[in-house]
Amino acid sequence: MADLVELDSLEILVIVDNELDPISPSPNAAVQQSGGLKDIGMGGPQLDPQTRGGAISELRMDNICCSAHGLSLLITGLKSNNSGEPERHTVLFDTGPEEHIFELNATRLKARLGEIETIQLSHWHRDHSGGMPRVLAMANAMKPAGSPAITVDLNPDRPDYRGMVTPMGPVSMEADPTFAEIEAAGGKVEKHSEVHTVAGKFFAVSGEIPRTTSYDVGLKRGLRMMREAGVWEEDTLIRDERFLMCKLKDKGIVMFTGCSHAGVVNASRHAVTLGNGVPLYAVMGGFHLADGEPQTITSTVADLQALEPKLLLTGHCTGWRAKFAIQQAMPGKLVPSFVGSRFTL
Ligand SMILES: [Zn+2]
Ligand SMILES: [Zn+2]
Repeated sequence: MADLVELDSLEILVIVDNELDPISPSPNAAVQQSGGLKDIGMGGPQLDPQTRGGAISELRMDNICCSAHGLSLLITGLKSNNSGEPERHTVLFDTGPEEHIFELNATRLKARLGEIETIQLSHWHRDHSGGMPRVLAMANAMKPAGSPAITVDLNPDRPDYRGMVTPMGPVSMEADPTFAEIEAAGGKVEKHSEVHTVAGKFFAVSGEIPRTTSYDVGLKRGLRMMREAGVWEEDTLIRDERFLMCKLKDKGIVMFTGCSHAGVVNASRHAVTLGNGVPLYAVMGGFHLADGEPQTITSTVADLQALEPKLLLTGHCTGWRAKFAIQQAMPGKLVPSFVGSRFTL
């Protein structure tokens, strides 16, 4: 990844995530965070100060985002070019579970969807892919006429269905959007299984994530089915999962992970390898420890700590027990990702 551009800064808008907390203060001075009630209030409709005791604006409940089980992050990299002009490139990492949730939150956040160049799907699971058609429609509607089509960066290995084992029999998830449906919705499908750069080489998408830990056993009870075969097969490894990463000047690698079915330590180690040894600065996304065994959580936190990250922006499927363990082991490093938050790194 020698050609990955070194960014000056990074802006992240959390459009979909599991947790909503517009009250807790930012726990880490190294990251600028906004999107709390004060910011929502100041961004609300202006009031005539004469009419409500000098109040300048109204905090409206319908300007607060709604949480949902899934993830969608709008990520913009910034870099000054040789003539000092700022250059920006924007990637949308995952699209959340449902179209209306994405639309509701993106609208409330006034998200600049027209800037999206690439949508990267971390893996084929509906809580990450479900918003896709509406995302494409909204983003394309915000783009000036004649803009290049939005690239949708996908793993070619798409099961027709994913599901899970239950004592009563398999439960199927809703199907992910098909390649044809994504094209029909206005996306330019690009299939990649190997590591590559996207969005002006500001970001890289990994290839398959090597499993080096003994404790990451993948998704318990995971299944997949191809319609032609008509039978469910065990699929605990979710081999199609990929992460997004970038390199931040004077700081290090920032890695975005969807669900970490390969293990967040494995993904973090691989990001450092792809970054040619540049230290790990931040990890953001789902650490998938919500249903983890206590020993898995302990081992994960210890091995993450060994990588000396400065920020852990935990979201989606991380689970409160893992967040608690991180906070205890690495006080100050945990910055929970709440829906509606804006982070500047
Ligand atoms: Zn998943
Ligand atoms: Zn997920």
